[in-house]
Amino acid sequence: VRVRPLTCTETRRGDRQVVRSLGDGTIHVSAARHDATFGFSAVFDAGASQEAVFEGSGMRQLVELALDGFSCTVFAFGQTGSGKTYTLMGPLAQSKTQPASPALLGLMQRSFACLLEQSRNRGSDLGLSASYLEIYNEQVRDLLSPGPPCTLPLRWSKTRGFYVENQLSVDFESLEAIASLLLQALNPTPPAGSQRRRTSAHALNTHSSRSHALLTVHVRSRAAGARASPPPTRVLQPSACPSKQGTLCFVDLAGSERVKETGSSGELSVEANNINRSLLALGHCISLLAKPRGKRTHIPYRDSKLTRLLARSLGGSGITLMVACISPSSRCLSETLSTLHYASRARRVTTRP
Ligand code: ADP
Ligand code: MG
Repeated sequence: VRVRPLTCTETRRGDRQVVRSLGDGTIHVSAARHDATFGFSAVFDAGASQEAVFEGSGMRQLVELALDGFSCTVFAFGQTGSGKTYTLMGPLAQSKTQPASPALLGLMQRSFACLLEQSRNRGSDLGLSASYLEIYNEQVRDLLSPGPPCTLPLRWSKTRGFYVENQLSVDFESLEAIASLLLQALNPTPPAGSQRRRTSAHALNTHSSRSHALLTVHVRSRAAGARASPPPTRVLQPSACPSKQGTLCFVDLAGSERVKETGSSGELSVEANNINRSLLALGHCISLLAKPRGKRTHIPYRDSKLTRLLARSLGGSGITLMVACISPSSRCLSETLSTLHYASRARRVTTRP
C-alpha cells in the first residue's frame, strides 16, 4: 500500500490527514465514525521515495523472476488521483518539457534498468519485445499500432488461455527504447518519424485515467558464455542452454472515483459505466479467488475484458504484485477504505507459478 502526500490543493483547503502508517506493514485509518487498522506486506507512507517503493515492494524480485521465465504482473489500483501513474511511471507532466529527475522515476523505468543490470550480471543474451494495450469502453486497443488505436478481438484457446488476436509486438534493441516509447522521459534522441511513439504517447495522455493500460515486456533470455557460478554437476554448452521466456506486465487501472463523479451524461456515462463494470468484475473475481481452494466456485473471468486479460495474473500461473494507492485526505475517506478492503481481499489470493 502506498499513501501519497497531501496535494497543495488539499492542504490549502484544510483537508485532514486520516491515514497513518504504524510501521511493520500496518496502516491506521481514523476519522469520526471510522477507525480501522489494516495489515499488508508493506506500507509506504507519504515520505517514501520511489526507490524505497521499488526496493521494498518486491519489484526487484519480480524482475528477477521474469528473467527466470515466470509471468509477472504488477498492478496499480486506487481512486483517480491516488498516485497510480506516479508510482508506475513517476511524475509525467514535467517530462514533456524536461526529463523527470532520476530520483522520481517509477517502478517501470526502475524495472527496465534492473532487467538490464540483471541480464548483464547473469551474462545472458536478452531478447526483448513489448506490447501495449488499453481497454477503453470494453474494447481492447493496440497502442503500438500506427495511426489511431485499432480495436482487436480477445480470444481464448486451450493452449494459450485468453489472448489478444493480431496484437502487435515490437522488438526492442534496448530497454531504453521501450522506456522512451512510453515515457518520452528517458531517451533524449528519439528515432525520427516514429508515428507509433506519438500515437501511444497521445493515447496515454488522453485516456490514461479513463482506460486500463497494460504494458507487457516479453523477456527471452539465453545464457551465453560463462555464468558467475556454473551448475556444479554439468556445464551446458551455450548452444544447449534452454532459453527462458518470461513476461513482465505493468497494469495501470482506470481510477474508481470518477465513476460516481461523471456517471451522469452521454459519452462520459458510458465510459464510467464501463470502468465501473470492469472494476466490479475484477473485485468479484478477487473476492472469489480469495476463498480457500476447496470452497471456490467458478471464477467469472469472462465478465469483462479486463478480467479475461488478467486471468493468469490473478488466479493462474503468474506472480503478481498489487500496489494499492491511497490519498491520506479526509475527503477521500470512503474511497480509501474501499481500496484498503479491496487490497485486503486481494492479499488472500494465491497463484501457482
Ligand atoms: P492516478 O494515476 O492514480 O490518477 P497520479 O499518479 O496522476 O494519480 O497522481 C495524482 C497527483 O499526485 C499527481 O500530480 C502526482 O504527481 C501526485 N503524486 C502522486 N503520488 C505522489 C507521491 N508519492 N509523491 C508526490 N506526488 C505524488
Ligand atoms: Mg493515472
